[in-house]
Amino acid sequence: MAQSIATSRISDTTVQVNGRSYAAPKRPTVVMIVDGFDPAYLEHGIANGTLPTMKSFKQNGFMAIADCSMPSTTNTNNTSVVTGVPPVVHGINGNYYLDSETGKEIMVTDAKRLRCGTILGALSRAGVKTAVVTAKDKLLKVLAYEMDGINFSSEYADKATINENGIENVEKLVGRKTPDQYSADLSLFVFDAGVKLLSTVHPDLMYLSTSDYVQHKHAPGEPEADAYHQAVDKTVAALIELGATVAITADHGMNDKSRADGTPNVVYLEDELNSRFGAGSVRVICPIADPFVRHHGALGSFVRVHLRKAGDIHAMMEFARTLPGIELVLDKENVCKQFDLPIDREGDFAVFSDRNTVVGARREDHNLSQLAGHRLRSHGGLGEQKVPFLLSRPISAAYQKRAKAGPLHNYDIFDFALNGVD
Ligand SMILES: [Zn+2]
Repeated sequence: MAQSIATSRISDTTVQVNGRSYAAPKRPTVVMIVDGFDPAYLEHGIANGTLPTMKSFKQNGFMAIADCSMPSTTNTNNTSVVTGVPPVVHGINGNYYLDSETGKEIMVTDAKRLRCGTILGALSRAGVKTAVVTAKDKLLKVLAYEMDGINFSSEYADKATINENGIENVEKLVGRKTPDQYSADLSLFVFDAGVKLLSTVHPDLMYLSTSDYVQHKHAPGEPEADAYHQAVDKTVAALIELGATVAITADHGMNDKSRADGTPNVVYLEDELNSRFGAGSVRVICPIADPFVRHHGALGSFVRVHLRKAGDIHAMMEFARTLPGIELVLDKENVCKQFDLPIDREGDFAVFSDRNTVVGARREDHNLSQLAGHRLRSHGGLGEQKVPFLLSRPISAAYQKRAKAGPLHNYDIFDFALNGVD
């Protein structure tokens, strides 16, 4: 009885978050970030029949392609999705950055750089029962920022405590051991936990975020990729079966970045610039860098160039444009204007490589032995900006019109799931 009173009170609630209004969920709602879910995987799975649930959304729900935030990296986009705004507002513009005050290079593992609140946090404080499950623990502090409710990573499932995570005995709930950090299982554990939570704890709103371990290794059509995405599809079916509205998007796409002979197609930009303009002229920062991911060697398709001493930025940018595989070079002002990035956290200029090329710092910064014979697949640039945007239920005419008019971003997914679903 108490439960139904609480629900009816909550169902009229709306919260304001970063300039948008979000209605409390009318029925259990699950927002799922399938890390590295390039539209090519979706198309392939629809064509070969391995994604029947997602395929049915074309008729019975909503299916579109959206843009992710740039750079097309994990932290940036998970943050955009949970805040509903681009990096210029939320401040997280990569996984890795050069601190301009200390000169130190820092990995983002907490919410210190976050400049605004989240949709999950605001709804939880308004009485909505929320839950967050993420594969990678490094994302947890941002995803569960100022949120009351269950939150844990599959990486540290065995360490969850009531005090810290609002839940304990996660292994028992999910029915298996904490998975290996470098495995497809890290994400499969998230799916199983999501289904278990929905059927036992009954959150009103749940956020599930996976890891792109499989997509970094396996192209669309490879059996491992098919098996993994099929597991995603089955999870979605199970969540719908339990009465949930399910919304699915990705943090970024994924492309093959190898040459025909299988070796990585890399431009070592810091080496190139320093050999042309003098040793120690610049430092190149790869915002994709992530010690928790072994299989991309910190190589992606977007970097920031920081001048270490006074130099001719114009000449450097012109030179970068001549390098093979470089598709866009923008100065600080223009990259921020074009891609909604925070100017106080940008390098002196930004360099994008094309969909078949990665751009790195110095050769010694990137350990490619970790690829262990796999072709390099990665993201970070414009070639990985397109992501699926799916809803398990039809959306209102007004939201259909909005989606058609565009632009549609992955960070619109909470808006569509909470305000747009009939
Ligand atoms: Zn990712």
